[in-house]
Amino acid sequence: MKKVLVCGAGGFIGGHLVKKLKKEGHWVRGVDLKKHEYSLSPADEFIVGDLTEQDLVKQVLDQPFDEIYQLAADMGGAGYLFTGENDANVMHNSATINLNIIHRSHQVGAKKIFYSSSACIYPAYNQEDPANPKCSEESAYPALPDSEYGWEKLFSERLYLAFHRNYGLDVRIARFHNVFGPEGTWTGGKEKAPAALCRKVAEADENGSIEVWGDGLQTRSFLYIDECLEAVDRLMKSDFIGPVNIGSEEMVSLNQLAEIVMDIARKPLSINNIPVSFTGVRGRNSDNHLIKEKLNWAPSKPLEEGLIKTYEWIREQVNAAVLTA
Ligand code: NAD
Repeated sequence: MKKVLVCGAGGFIGGHLVKKLKKEGHWVRGVDLKKHEYSLSPADEFIVGDLTEQDLVKQVLDQPFDEIYQLAADMGGAGYLFTGENDANVMHNSATINLNIIHRSHQVGAKKIFYSSSACIYPAYNQEDPANPKCSEESAYPALPDSEYGWEKLFSERLYLAFHRNYGLDVRIARFHNVFGPEGTWTGGKEKAPAALCRKVAEADENGSIEVWGDGLQTRSFLYIDECLEAVDRLMKSDFIGPVNIGSEEMVSLNQLAEIVMDIARKPLSINNIPVSFTGVRGRNSDNHLIKEKLNWAPSKPLEEGLIKTYEWIREQVNAAVLTA
């Protein structure tokens, strides 16, 4: 049995990770600003607190955990991260969390720490062609992320690597590419594209329409949560430090993503593409050469399978919200 700390345990990926770690029989402490919104956490201890505060970090990190998963971040979808309105908070809060956690991990002699970086660190100049984005790990430099969120992630990657280099801290770094699934934010402004589209389709009248931001031709790939956790597990068990992409190579346009959700829902809606300034880069796709080589990992299931489960869960949330309104 390992002693594990999950930072961001009240969030989407952290919530699923805690469940997985508990199923595997480990002792888990979770910490987050808030309890998980959609399910009761099976963590042995759950501390509600702010990881930007050093006193809280001392209280949470009071022992040399076998594993720490640092998932806490001031985070959201395009409507939160790319409008520019939340840049100061995103940078300040997430950088402070990371500075606090890595420093304290070193002080207590943590055995291994995982850091969740993002595909948003990749330079904008390699993601202008929706059909041919370049997101191989070594292409991160010269750096030019298109958001402050991406710059903070890049800074924190370097921070974790510096603690590894100077103090021998055993770190693992992954760059997640659009992870989705049930029990994630689906409304309120911080939701990401798969959840937002599932919600819009579930809420739409038969034969109505849904809005898709931008021209809908921008491309992305999406990874189901179970696949993501399997890859994280392999990374933690390996000697490979990263940074490494954890994502899918099944690239679709946002309009295609909407079409897949409509097919799942059996709702033939029309798409209303609305011009907004914050759709992010034109194209992005995971490049899985390195993770295949180092960890022999690739997603095992098509995008549609994960979307079926996600749509079903969001449809239930939408129906429940209608009933309580
Ligand atoms: P999430 O927003 O659901 O979870 C992050 C959690 O961190 C939230 O529950 C939030 O309350 C918590 N948090 C924020 N500020 C905090 C603070 N000051 N103190 C304590 N807790 C705080 O996001 P997620 O999708 O679960 O993402 C987890 C990690 O993976 C994040 O670091 C995110 O940047 C990274 N990531 C996620 C994706 C994705 O597609 N989901 C893609 C790339 C990177």
